Amino acid sequence: MSFELPKLPYANDALAPHISENTINFHYGKHHKTYVDKLNGLVKGTEFENADLETIIKKADGGVFNNGAQVWNHTFYFEALSPKAKAKPEGKLLEAVEKTFGSFDQFIEDFSNAGATLFGSGWVWLVKNSDGALEIMQGANAENPIKDGYTPILTMDVWEHAYYLDTQNARPKYIENFFKVLDWRIIENRF
Ligand code: MN
Repeated sequence: MSFELPKLPYANDALAPHISENTINFHYGKHHKTYVDKLNGLVKGTEFENADLETIIKKADGGVFNNGAQVWNHTFYFEALSPKAKAKPEGKLLEAVEKTFGSFDQFIEDFSNAGATLFGSGWVWLVKNSDGALEIMQGANAENPIKDGYTPILTMDVWEHAYYLDTQNARPKYIENFFKVLDWRIIENRF
């Protein structure tokens, strides 16, 4: 058994102009693929050879954790984007967002700030905690909240490779663009 690069649910140019074809070609076609290939090499002959990614995230460390978590994180990130994105959550998810953050606009501001202030490379997460309430979390490098018992429902990649080809050093501009292609229908389903 080996890990595979999942197919994107849209064409590489479908998210343009918010996320360019060039960025998807590199971010998905090179970076995501390389994490998959490296993971397959690293797990050979180890206890993780037939493990699933959640098990690797919870139990592995070093290169196996880093590459396994990066495979999971990127799949979770790319599958929540869409050229026909639903712009705002409704129903139970909207209620939960309003309960925790006061309003949807305040959530966008808090989540964007978490992305802009994360030092170096990493991910910003919206998670459900053990009480079922929402929290925003920052994670450095490949970190994934599953490791600490949280249930992720949304993630945003803030590694430079996610945006440098499109917005260079302007991470906040990338964050604005991210929300233009984030499909809240998918986040509602995860919630
Ligand atoms: Mn990435």
